[in-house]
Amino acid sequence: MNLQTTTATAVKTIGIVGAGQLGRMLALAGYPLGLKFLFLDKSADAPGAQVGEILLGEFSDAQKIAALAARVDLLTYDVENVPVAALAGLPKGKPFLPPVAALAAGQDRLSEKQLFAQLKIPTPKYRSVDGMADLEEAMHAIGYPAVLKTRRLGYDGRGQRFIRSPAELGSAFNALGGVPLILEEFIEFEREVSLIGVRNRRGDLRFYPLVENRHRDGILRLSLAPYADRNLQARAQLYLRRILQHFDYAGVLTVEFFVKNGRLMANETAPRVHNSGHWTIEGAVTSQFENHVRAILGLPLGDTSAIGHSAMVNFIGALPPLEEVLKIPGVHYHDYGKQPRPGRKLGHVTLVCKTRRELAAILKNFPGLDQ
Ligand code: AMP
Repeated sequence: MNLQTTTATAVKTIGIVGAGQLGRMLALAGYPLGLKFLFLDKSADAPGAQVGEILLGEFSDAQKIAALAARVDLLTYDVENVPVAALAGLPKGKPFLPPVAALAAGQDRLSEKQLFAQLKIPTPKYRSVDGMADLEEAMHAIGYPAVLKTRRLGYDGRGQRFIRSPAELGSAFNALGGVPLILEEFIEFEREVSLIGVRNRRGDLRFYPLVENRHRDGILRLSLAPYADRNLQARAQLYLRRILQHFDYAGVLTVEFFVKNGRLMANETAPRVHNSGHWTIEGAVTSQFENHVRAILGLPLGDTSAIGHSAMVNFIGALPPLEEVLKIPGVHYHDYGKQPRPGRKLGHVTLVCKTRRELAAILKNFPGLDQ
């Protein structure tokens, strides 16, 4: 290898819109690469504050985003709800990655579904719904049961209602109506999986192994990786590659799928690092966070292989005592430093074992996990 001593490569500073746990983990992955970080967030005690400076401001404030841009070399984000309008005035030469078009598509469940259709990626049947009459017509086309969702700002099961019978139509519409909606066919899935892929600015691609995800009340509780199924892995990669290339993407992108009759149906995309990829910090050769940073800087991507069998358990609403969890061999504890609140993601642990059997045995009595 020809290792020349470099003449002071300027230290790069990355601006992160949002200082949540994802931003914190991005910064923690970037420091060993010699990078610096500056966050934009409305809250001074967001998880990112523990590892970097926060510029206080709203994501919708174009001036604040411009102020962030002025102090960094390039920008990325850890939240999906950055209003695209606030990014319009960003100076050329200050890349904002992943690309705004991908962010915009992921913010609206209808454009996301249309993108799947355009790229020939199977997805549940859907209809856009703007009023009660639309809903009745859409129900007629899709049939019971179905899921009514807000097109925008829905996450972790928020902004959605299951409709099992005509008697539930009115209450579901009243609970969500007033904003654009989408009605989706209810999928009796066998399991839910996600694929995390990464593309750098040179167009190199890497994919992590599929992950199996278990949700409760619409919130991710447990991820198991790798979900070893060669056919599904190849199929999921084919679909995700289409999305990455469509956007000339740079960064990490996640697609969540339902598996039904052994086939994949895309549920949604997240144009960012993802909760179902937290296991990669300890369970893969290179974490999704480091690969995201490498990708947006145009650096070579790291190996995405799993180094064992991993489980990631989310702690929602309360954290189990550190003392109790750390007794478990092979465990890694992540406390995001957030105030406890019902339904709030406060932390997670990752367990890495040599075999799937060993992992299953530990998970049986795992604190905070009732499967
Ligand atoms: P989402 O916010 O769309 O990811 O939905 C959260 C969770 O609700 C999913 O992970 C599924 O467990 C469930 N869900 C969402 N859409 C559907 C659907 N069309 N059919 C069955 N379950 C669904």
